[in-house]
Amino acid sequence: MENVSKRLASLSPSATIAMNQKSTEMKNNGIDVVNLSVGEPDFPTPDNVKAAAKKAIDENYSFYAPVPGYPALRKAIVEKFKRENNLEYTADQIVVSTGAKHSIANVLMSIIDPGDEVIVPSPYWVSYPEQVKIAEGVNVIVDAGIESEYKITPKQLENAITSKTKALMLCSPSNPSGSLYSREELAALVEVLKKHPDVFIISDEIYEHINFSGTHVSIAEFPEVFDRTVVVNGVSKGYAMTGWRIGYIGAPLWIAKACSKLQGQMTSGATSIAQMAAIEALNGDQSCIADMKMAFKRRRDYVLDRMSKIQGIKCTVPDGAFYVYPDMSFYFGKKNGSEKINSSMDLCLYLLEKGRIATVPGSAFGSPNNVRISYATSDENLVKAMDRLEEALKGLV
Ligand code: PMP
Ligand code: GLU
Repeated sequence: MENVSKRLASLSPSATIAMNQKSTEMKNNGIDVVNLSVGEPDFPTPDNVKAAAKKAIDENYSFYAPVPGYPALRKAIVEKFKRENNLEYTADQIVVSTGAKHSIANVLMSIIDPGDEVIVPSPYWVSYPEQVKIAEGVNVIVDAGIESEYKITPKQLENAITSKTKALMLCSPSNPSGSLYSREELAALVEVLKKHPDVFIISDEIYEHINFSGTHVSIAEFPEVFDRTVVVNGVSKGYAMTGWRIGYIGAPLWIAKACSKLQGQMTSGATSIAQMAAIEALNGDQSCIADMKMAFKRRRDYVLDRMSKIQGIKCTVPDGAFYVYPDMSFYFGKKNGSEKINSSMDLCLYLLEKGRIATVPGSAFGSPNNVRISYATSDENLVKAMDRLEEALKGLV
């Protein structure tokens, strides 16, 4: 008899991964689908990083790595935080994990007790609320709509904090909306947090390098909250290394120690070869970042331009990451023959089946009017995808 734990029974599968798999399956069956679902750079990992991995194999980096990461990698991360974020950490405040997803899971498991509340601004990345559930915390979802560019206001934060609040999840640049919190906006949130010294901040900065409007600002730069902020980052997005699975945190020492203890019982150190590659990514030539950013910006502008010409699509101009996040509720209630579109899921399935483009329904990110489109694919694919989107939507009346 199947009898999964209660923890698993209430867990939703990752919609981003599900849509990606569905699209890959269709492609494997010979169907020409343009995949705009998963969020990962379409570029190959830079050559210098690949060379470092090959060298590590030849030099027999094949033994267990230290649980929190090789000293050389933690040193490279300390230097990266100093150089790019003006943040001061010591190496023992850094923990390297199997992707930023794993880093966030470690942090939640390390600080959340059953019943503790975690404030999760919506739209959110799919895995936050599910990981909070795994940690037996309680999600307090705070809705940020299109009118505030999908960012929460200080007042909303203030209203959401209770005596049970343990942490706030922040994601800037945001997946799925692509929005950035400006320094002023973060300062205003910090003003609220100053009044609540027991609230921790988990700041997911994995899209730091994909920022079209200026330099990245981390909430950890505010001295008032530095001691209770965990900065989550990794090499997946900035260095086109999603499959290598290297994420990391900079954290208060006791949280870093707790994550390391947990990781020592769950997964051990991240893959040795990938860690050696990550050292080169952080210390080596950084030109890949600017090159990819330029390509992403060009693609974003193209997609926004095409979408602005399609009836009923409401879209913000995302300043970062590689997603556009249109409100497509105009199409709800419309029909293609007898088939009625009632939700973002129906719309995404329609776009996949009739339009041959894979996207992710906003319902997976907490905003049921939206659809997430990842433009991390070739210019050629984007032309095809936008033609198909336009055509498919014309079919809904
Ligand atoms: N945070 C956000 C907001 C993401 O979009 C992703 C991408 N999957 C991650 C974390 C996890 O990244 P990683 O590949 O390093 O696990
Ligand atoms: N972050 C990416 C996305 O949102 C990768 C998939 C995942 O890890 O969920 O599409």
